[in-house]
Amino acid sequence: MADIKKTVADWLRDAYAMENQGIEMLERQTERLKNYPEMLAKAKEHTEVTRRQAERVRQCLERMGESPSTIKTAVSSLIGNAQSLSGIFTDDEVVKAGVFNYGFEQWEIANYTALITAAEQIGDQEMKRLLQENLREEQEMADWLLNHLPGVTRTFLNRQANDQMAEAKR
Ligand code: MG
Ligand code: FE
Repeated sequence: MADIKKTVADWLRDAYAMENQGIEMLERQTERLKNYPEMLAKAKEHTEVTRRQAERVRQCLERMGESPSTIKTAVSSLIGNAQSLSGIFTDDEVVKAGVFNYGFEQWEIANYTALITAAEQIGDQEMKRLLQENLREEQEMADWLLNHLPGVTRTFLNRQANDQMAEAKR
């Protein structure tokens, strides 16, 4: 049991780092987004959602007598690399970001799915409930992003075709 708890605490610290990376990423994007108001509003909303998610993960750590102070940097740097690879600062950054964000949400969904199973294994119902709330919110965001990706892509391509690159970009 001792080993299981250590593993779960590690995973929770990773999840805490994941959410904080999410906040940074969303803040960077909302600073840049200008001409896609629906996307901007949703990104701002999900920034606030993500802050609450980080707080829930912190509560999960607290339930295990742990704190998130020793954040693993490996996860953040992995995402940092993936983000630069996603080519967000390019002419088509709004579409690239839309694709990348959807991938990020799926990554979060997979992490919470594993964590919920872990909470079941250690028999912590309250932790399971907190993690399920986060999972539900990530699923909502993932669905929204996928549903809006065609519209954003069309808008981008139409603006590009009309030589409105400044408006198309972000
Ligand atoms: Mg999240
Ligand atoms: Fe998310």
